Amino acid sequence: MNSEQAPRTAVGRFAPSPSGRMHLGNVFCALLSWLSARHDGGRWLLRIEDLDMQRCRREYADALEDDLHWLGLDWDEGGSLGGEHGPYYQSLRTDIYRRFFERLEAAGLTYPCFCSRADLKASQAPHASDHAPVYAGTCRHLTPAERERLAAVRRPSVRLALPDAESRFDDGHYGPQVCNLQTDCGDFVLRRADGVFAYQLAVVVDDALMGVNQVVRGCDLLESTHMQLAIYRLLGFDAPQFIHLPLLMSEHGQRLAKRDRGASLADLRRAGVGPERIIGRLAHCAGLVDSPRPLMPADLVADFDWRRVPTANILFEP
Ligand code: GLU
Repeated sequence: MNSEQAPRTAVGRFAPSPSGRMHLGNVFCALLSWLSARHDGGRWLLRIEDLDMQRCRREYADALEDDLHWLGLDWDEGGSLGGEHGPYYQSLRTDIYRRFFERLEAAGLTYPCFCSRADLKASQAPHASDHAPVYAGTCRHLTPAERERLAAVRRPSVRLALPDAESRFDDGHYGPQVCNLQTDCGDFVLRRADGVFAYQLAVVVDDALMGVNQVVRGCDLLESTHMQLAIYRLLGFDAPQFIHLPLLMSEHGQRLAKRDRGASLADLRRAGVGPERIIGRLAHCAGLVDSPRPLMPADLVADFDWRRVPTANILFEP
């Protein structure tokens, strides 16, 4: 018997939340994720993370696809293109999330939490700069009687009970990562009180079911990775390779946002700036080229190398 395994084809993805038009920080992430998958001869898919229906809009998702095409970033499945793992809009995948949520619930790994509205952001990825406090576990040890009394007055969110254990993984760019699940992550929300499933659950279920084996995204999600790995383990999924990348920072020392000068893709397009200039500039930020000369993403595939990409966040000067 031949025990050698066929080399696995990279399956990368871009998973934006369509809560506005793209800024160069989003484009930077999309570009590196695309290059990483394409350099390995792999596939790339587009998943629209529109769980938070209050903030996300279909027209932003459509504009995002138009921007990606314009930038020369193509995908093999996902978004409005569809594909065998669809739907690719999280807002259409609630029944799928429920199935896996119920598995965790049936295994006794969850508990209702009656603490205030703090969980309401759970459908958004908790970027490190948002400083989400570690949940103290207040509702974990409520008695059945206390739960019943509280349930009569308020709808609970549901949290995953994490063990007091170490979590480790080897990031493809930042190297070994370690934390204690209980003290560094804390029991996190799986389903909000309003019934919306949380980002942490949805992202794992989607990446696993869509066959994603290479997750490339901003390093502000390094910590979230430990929480997601806990879900991978509990649901018996194989975890992907995680490769985090540095963030583009504004002159004010914050994660780049579309309000930052020179950062809004829509504004740049409107001003007549071409995709080659944007890609060239971002490739230079990523250390992939020595000067910000005009380039398209396809020009960068052959020589792409993670070792050239810095780990420290990058100041973006407009
Ligand atoms: N929708 C998330 C965000 O935009 C994606 C995070 C991820 O790539 O896992 O922050």
